[in-house]
Amino acid sequence: MKITVEPIRLTPRHPFRISRETQLVRDVFVFELEWEGIVGYGEASPPPYYGEDAKTVVEAVGKLKKRLHGDPEGLQERIAHGDLRKILDRHASVRAALDTALWDIVGKRAGKPLYEILGLDPARTPATSFTIGIDAPEVIDRKVDEAAAYHILKMKMGFPGDLALLDRVIARSGKTIRVDANEGWDVETALQMCRELAEKRIEFVEQPIRHENEEDLRTLKRLSPIPVILDESVRTVDDVSARRDQGHGINIKLMKCGGITPALAMIESARREGLRVMLGCMIETSVGITAAAHLSPLVDYADLDGNLLVKNDPFTGVTVQNGKLVLPDGAGLGVTRRVSA
Ligand code: MG
Repeated sequence: MKITVEPIRLTPRHPFRISRETQLVRDVFVFELEWEGIVGYGEASPPPYYGEDAKTVVEAVGKLKKRLHGDPEGLQERIAHGDLRKILDRHASVRAALDTALWDIVGKRAGKPLYEILGLDPARTPATSFTIGIDAPEVIDRKVDEAAAYHILKMKMGFPGDLALLDRVIARSGKTIRVDANEGWDVETALQMCRELAEKRIEFVEQPIRHENEEDLRTLKRLSPIPVILDESVRTVDDVSARRDQGHGINIKLMKCGGITPALAMIESARREGLRVMLGCMIETSVGITAAAHLSPLVDYADLDGNLLVKNDPFTGVTVQNGKLVLPDGAGLGVTRRVSA
């Protein structure tokens, strides 16, 4: 199998600020795998939080040379459980890129869109939220206006003055709002905030407390009047059952778990444990976002806006109409390169 890896520097429309960092640019990699004349696309958007960056992706790709032999299904198995899993253990975004490109090939070989290969109904995609990063009040106003097409907003919190900004967004937008604190609160603050957020009819809160503070998360799950969705706490399928008593649901991202194959296993495990499921993303092109969107008929909440937050997405794929994700009906992922990127 032939592999080509293209580095792409994505520029967010606004500097993307959350409680622990600000991103001015984001380096991602689009993988092209070619098998028997069929080209499959996948993407790695390496998350620094989990120890990956552009350098670790290049290193990992170097280790793959001459190992990508065999058919797509055999390779997916080796990535999930075999020799390639060992080599790429700390490179979840690279596993995600390979696994996704292989699913694209499987779909194209069958002449069917990925959702159909997975047996999913494209009419059942949820609405996606659009994320409002931390910013000055006037900039927040502008972002809310720019988000007119989206029915749900996600507010980043976990910094001084966040409640006042939240009130401003509620008043200006009148929309359903969910909140992500990115581990920004201690347990006392989180409890107090969850009570206030419930009064403001906030839909749910994502990762209010640091993932290491497991006892605090258990306490919060018991006492919070709104659902708590775990993000930083849950990376792999094993985390799902281990953390079941620390939140009401989990946020699955292809770049954390290593692609569509492990994401499917996580969704199954979460349902067994009675947990809600959300699909999230990093800053990504339409390749990574469309891959995740094909799984969205299986989940309760989608936050698949990474491609919408950048100025220079070189691909098209999933779109948003009336706030809802609309899957492309081309074979495989259904993504295409923009003609004049
Ligand atoms: Mg999050």
